[in-house]
Amino acid sequence: CGIVGYVGSDEACPFLIDGLRRLEYRGYDSSGVAIHGGESFVITRSVGRIDSLVDRIGSVSPVGTMGIGHTRWATHGPATEPNAHPHLGGDGEVVLVHNGVIENFQILKDELIKKGYVFHSDTDSEVAAHLIAENLKNTAEIADQPNVRYLTAVQASIARLRGTYGLAIAFRDRPNFMIAARFGSPLVIGVGKGEYFVSSDASPLAGRTDRIVYLADHQIAVLTPEGFSVLHRDSGKVRVDIRPLEVDT
Ligand code: GLU
Repeated sequence: CGIVGYVGSDEACPFLIDGLRRLEYRGYDSSGVAIHGGESFVITRSVGRIDSLVDRIGSVSPVGTMGIGHTRWATHGPATEPNAHPHLGGDGEVVLVHNGVIENFQILKDELIKKGYVFHSDTDSEVAAHLIAENLKNTAEIADQPNVRYLTAVQASIARLRGTYGLAIAFRDRPNFMIAARFGSPLVIGVGKGEYFVSSDASPLAGRTDRIVYLADHQIAVLTPEGFSVLHRDSGKVRVDIRPLEVDT
């Protein structure tokens, strides 16, 4: 029931774990993190408390400056490790975490299975990962603007989702790049200096940055260490207000 993400130049894992702990109050049955290790994602998942995820990670955290994390409140499929997020799409070129419910997941899943995609979980969320991989395959790269292809594939994918979602999406071939999208599940962006955070609410951001953007429904945020922008799902860039973080102490 919570999402965290980091893109910047610090190690991602400590923020993700700390952030997931601060989101624990929202309730969850399992958790996981994916860190971009340079060539591919290192994914660690666990049923139960964040402490058991930390045990699973062990004394040496996966190294990497971009990553996403999730606490799951199971809606589709039991609370097991294969159903815990993050979920990979395609052959591992996409990884994502999802909060919410994709109501038309079965139709999409049948379609993707026919196209040869292999599912590793019972979740509704995994369809979004494979759908993005499929749309990536069908989207040409624009010269000098490699990120546009990824954004286009995400836009095409979420246009097909019915239901609710907070999503943080990362790509194997774009190690310093993340997309967040919101419809019906809260998401905020923390604006740092050369680093950006994604979270379900502001509590993981305290002590990291005091500048926050609250995403509205149908908004998509594109994050790199150099900056961020927010777009409406089907129109162009939108201007957003950066607000001060207010936390209850
Ligand atoms: N529907 C998804 C699942 O069952 C996400 C649940 C959540 O919001 O944590 O995995």
